[in-house]
Amino acid sequence: MPATPAPRLRADVSGLPRYVPGRAAPSDRVDKLSSNENPYPPLPSVVAVLREELERVNRYPDPAGRQLVTRLSEALAVPPEHIVPGTGSLGVTRDLLRAAAGEGDEVVFAWRSFEAYPQLTWANGSTSVQVPLRDERHDLEAMADAVTDRTRMIIVCNPNNPTGTAVRRDELERFLDRVPGHVLVVLDEAYREFVDDPGVPDGIDLYRGRPNVAVLRTFSKAYGLARLRVGYAVAHPPVATALRACAVPFGVSGLAQAAARASLEAEPELMERVGTLVSERARITGALRTAGWTVPDSRANFVWLRLGPRSRAFADACEAEGVMVRPFGDEGVRITVGTPEANDRLLKIVGDRHG
Ligand SMILES: *Cc1c(COP(=O)(O)O)cnc(C)c1O
Repeated sequence: MPATPAPRLRADVSGLPRYVPGRAAPSDRVDKLSSNENPYPPLPSVVAVLREELERVNRYPDPAGRQLVTRLSEALAVPPEHIVPGTGSLGVTRDLLRAAAGEGDEVVFAWRSFEAYPQLTWANGSTSVQVPLRDERHDLEAMADAVTDRTRMIIVCNPNNPTGTAVRRDELERFLDRVPGHVLVVLDEAYREFVDDPGVPDGIDLYRGRPNVAVLRTFSKAYGLARLRVGYAVAHPPVATALRACAVPFGVSGLAQAAARASLEAEPELMERVGTLVSERARITGALRTAGWTVPDSRANFVWLRLGPRSRAFADACEAEGVMVRPFGDEGVRITVGTPEANDRLLKIVGDRHG
């Protein structure tokens, strides 16, 4: 048989930045504080809706997610045409890139920030422009300075993953005033529900008066539906319309739509859990600081330790004692807030290990 040639791929495919996921937990006895997941299982009311929905999986889902959009539209006081659900906010980010940035166009974001940004930008054929954090925070001045003729999108991750730091209303407004109106600014608010500082703006408020601002939200973190893959964008019509045009038809499954709706119905119960995680975040931060660690103020469901080259060893030591945390290169370690019991185990390991 003649040798079959390999399919032709993009010439730069071998150099692509990869999304490095957190490792799977080696056993159920390990506390997985490495992927920013919600530690609580779905509410019985959500499971009941999912059971019912299982009986219908022979049918395609509503491609527009109309019921979910209607419910969100009421909750956020935003017109339904401005809401576009997608396969997690990651899926929506990819579609936004498709809609806004072409081959060689520039996408500006902070670094270090969410690991998916470089990979999604690359896969879109666009160029990442990474603006270093300053004291673990977005340097919005430098990000505005990084805008060129080729800039099509700027992503502001607020609060930032993995440092947990949040930008404040005045600095974000000053930044938005500086960015040209033809550049799309995406506020990734995956952790919005964990923000307890009134000085951190709600992206939905900022989007209202600004046609070039889009907001991303997700059901993966506070609502505990990470495995179902559902999030959404809030954006003004030209952007929202383009976003719908770029989405994979029927991308958001019926199960995901139903669970998201049920979670909105159960919001008070879910926000109680979020409240617990927020107070646990304060407890962990306080205990770590008392033990001598430097911990930036986090507004998300995780805390960040800048350990530099010690990051990997620190994560390995935690794992040997049954708690998985997430090292990022030679920069630092991100620790997700878990149940109070898991956090106790974490603090037992690291509460007295500073040095
Ligand atoms: C977890 C996370 C998301 C992802 O969410 P999905 O909705 O699960 O795709 C998006 N942005 C940031 C910054 C995240 O940390």
